[in-house]
Amino acid sequence: MSVVVVTGVPGVGKSTVMNAAEEFGFKIVNFGSIMFEQGSKDEVRDRDAMRKLPVSSQRKYQKMAGEAISKMGDVVVDTHASILTPAGYMPGLPEWTVRALNPDIIVLVEADAEEIERRRNKDSSRIRDSDDIELHQRVNREYAAVAAVMTGATVAIVENHDNQVEVAAKRFREILGK
Ligand code: AMP
Ligand code: MG
Repeated sequence: MSVVVVTGVPGVGKSTVMNAAEEFGFKIVNFGSIMFEQGSKDEVRDRDAMRKLPVSSQRKYQKMAGEAISKMGDVVVDTHASILTPAGYMPGLPEWTVRALNPDIIVLVEADAEEIERRRNKDSSRIRDSDDIELHQRVNREYAAVAAVMTGATVAIVENHDNQVEVAAKRFREILGK
């Protein structure tokens, strides 16, 4: 059994880098989509509204999604180390979720704050919050470290710089052992 958790701030190009994994037979599961399907869609219109729900609701759907994903076998999970809510940074991998998923590897996809800002501005399909990207990436490293220490997962950083998706995908494949 192998579970790889892939994280990164919104707009870093996480899903783009991860598409490389599909070619190698890995099943990709989007944590946010599972949360939405687990009932959040009865409360909010779209996925980008979930992080505005009361934290207690987010936790409830997060827990349900984590448990559902933990039964899926070998997966690469597209998710977040932290989610910026109006109440602060909520851990994407709190104790109960990271123990359920029991990942082998936690990947952080990162880029420069200016690159991420530009990517967010270009993507009109999503509702992105304005936030301190550098701080958010720092918080993500810290939250990933805690989840790693709790489970023994390794932490790997994949840099996804402008016009270098191929480099990022290659690094990602190496991390997956492919
Ligand atoms: P994404 O498509 O990766 O931007 O995820 C969409 C939304 O799903 C996020 O804005 C969060 O509200 C939610 N989400 C994704 N992963 C998690 C997680 N591990 N814990 C809590 N919420 C999550
Ligand atoms: Mg995505």
